Amino acid sequence: MRRVLLALGVALPFLFGAALVASAANEGHPRGAAAVDQARLLGADGEPGSWMTVGRTYSEQRYSPLTAINKATVGKLSLAWYADLDTERGQEATPLVVDGALYVSTAWSIVKAYDARTGEKLWEYEPKVDRAATGQIACCDVVNRGVAAWKGRIYLGALDGRLIALDAKTGKPVWSVRTVKLNDPCTITQAPKVVKGLVIIGNAGAEYTCRGYVSAYDAETGKMRWRFYTVPGAPGDPTNTAMLKRAAKTWHGDFWKYGGGATAWDTILYDPKTNLVYFGTGNGLSWPQEIRSPGGGDNLFVSSIIAVNADTGAYAWHYQETPGDQWDYDNTNPLMTADLKIHGQPRHVLMQAPKTGFFYVWDARTGQLLSAEKFAPANWASKIDLKTGRPVENPAARYTSTKAALVYPGPLGAHNWHPMAFSPRTGLVYIPVTENNVGLVGEKPEGFKLNDRAYNIGALLESDAITKLYAAPGAPQRGNIRSYIQAWDPARGREVWRIPNTVYGASGTLVTASDLLFSGSAAGDFAAYDARTGARLWNAPTQALVVAAPSTYAIGGEQYVALLVGARGLPKGQVRTSLQSANNSRLMVFKLGGTAKLPTEAVGPANITLGALDPPLLTGSNEQVISGQGAYHRVCAGCHGAGAVSDKSVPDLRHSPVLRSLTEWNSIVLLGARAGNGMGAFKTQLAEGEAESIFHYVISQANKDKAAEQAAARK
Ligand code: CA
Repeated sequence: MRRVLLALGVALPFLFGAALVASAANEGHPRGAAAVDQARLLGADGEPGSWMTVGRTYSEQRYSPLTAINKATVGKLSLAWYADLDTERGQEATPLVVDGALYVSTAWSIVKAYDARTGEKLWEYEPKVDRAATGQIACCDVVNRGVAAWKGRIYLGALDGRLIALDAKTGKPVWSVRTVKLNDPCTITQAPKVVKGLVIIGNAGAEYTCRGYVSAYDAETGKMRWRFYTVPGAPGDPTNTAMLKRAAKTWHGDFWKYGGGATAWDTILYDPKTNLVYFGTGNGLSWPQEIRSPGGGDNLFVSSIIAVNADTGAYAWHYQETPGDQWDYDNTNPLMTADLKIHGQPRHVLMQAPKTGFFYVWDARTGQLLSAEKFAPANWASKIDLKTGRPVENPAARYTSTKAALVYPGPLGAHNWHPMAFSPRTGLVYIPVTENNVGLVGEKPEGFKLNDRAYNIGALLESDAITKLYAAPGAPQRGNIRSYIQAWDPARGREVWRIPNTVYGASGTLVTASDLLFSGSAAGDFAAYDARTGARLWNAPTQALVVAAPSTYAIGGEQYVALLVGARGLPKGQVRTSLQSANNSRLMVFKLGGTAKLPTEAVGPANITLGALDPPLLTGSNEQVISGQGAYHRVCAGCHGAGAVSDKSVPDLRHSPVLRSLTEWNSIVLLGARAGNGMGAFKTQLAEGEAESIFHYVISQANKDKAAEQAAARK
């Protein structure tokens, strides 16, 4: 196999020009065939017009050999077609394009197929996940990051834990398996990966008591072929392999009672050169060790990279980036392989820019750490010791229930799931970086109560001690600081330049052989930059926040760039122009000389323009408001927004007429009277009286904000 690849590598530079034009026909595969197989994926560079897996090739570099759109022509890039999406929640998927069809997944795990040239919709598949039930256990919106194509089928990991094979021509399900037990609080938001006829998938849900694992299913039949658990189960559990029994020695206490965590919720990478599948694992439950593993320990394999044999799932190596992680430093962020020259030596490497703020480079075969340099400010560790592979931790960052800490990066990380791109031409990785910090203090272990339908972290983000830390001389500004696209030299371990964002946020990146770097932004536009200098060369409005990464493809000699736009909320000053979604969620496809135009007229009913606040007077006690504030931020804020201020993709409770009836409020909050709208019953997540306390807290917030509105109007 290696010899074949090397031979391809030599021949490729001569193929690109011809392949650009020839790729439309895809050697006889009819439109919508998705006739992807291992040979085609391995030879993806010889078929640059297709985008057959979310990162384009198995290396996940998100680098395209296409060059029709280049520095000379990019000024003519404009909208070719677009499709409005019928959901207001986040859009995180990268579109696949193969055999003339474009496949994309959207919020609520809906899959859509389009004619990639014209935008004509071919089919749509709605898996009908129970929105009320899954919405409660999806930590970070009901998103999906993409599908996989293989031999005439499209594979979807649905939010409710099903893995579903669809007929690529019709969108009809061929088989469906539950990868998680019915009613387990585990969700899927990641793209499945197909490797040699196996569909590989993990899940999310560490904070909801999930125990992490990655499974491989037969692409043809849906039969499970292997499963790798990432943390030990209870003593005596039959899934505890010899490896996991050794891992159990790095834990203390009855950790399995909390599920275990270490869920592999995003990156799954396959490397044909090593025949290894790599995935990253997330945090444990609780975040602080004081509850989950009193006495500390490394807690294997939380917050680690794990490499397993692609055929058998057998353990090959692991590297734990954050031993005994306390900061939600998931290592699930995008991984990629590349061939770099490090200290003059050619190395086949695996690399990652995870939440921790360090950019790690490993030997892909052995897992040997080759370098780990800070790509963003990080105070939890001063450096990574290359000899031991362990971080040199800052003791002040390790908080307990009696000691608060101010830590950076915060739990959303210096880089999260947003795809990064690598250009073998420039030797640079393009990372969407977010600088932020957090204050943390542990909950008292004796007061910690677990609820598998709610977000359990066992830590508090607000306390007097935290306030003091931020008030101290030299403390950073609290929360989000700045964001930018960083051009990082992974061989030398240093930043080369950066493109500052005007609005804080992260969006996925794509780089091409014409040295163009593409990325959207939280300011509501999509831009092309010079991949060597960062100079901005082109941009177009998206009328929506962009978090997803673009992909690019070619049909009939024309190059296209496709991008999903839309996330919770609209960019500042932007109005709703889509009849289908408040966030202007869309699939946008660009080409040179495209003539499509986005609508510019504002549309929409009164639920988008909320008008002046008109809440009832507060009748609750001060104690109720304070208790309601805590319960609201524990259970409600994830969807309805901090401070009861919503982004309008879900109702803004301050404006709700239900604030006039506690009885109606309780029937919705406790009994699920609006489950049909995606608002499930929260009876088991709330203690006695908490629903009422939240009611009074929201009324209190609404009155405060009404007073502020009136004061502003008087000025
Ligand atoms: Ca996490």
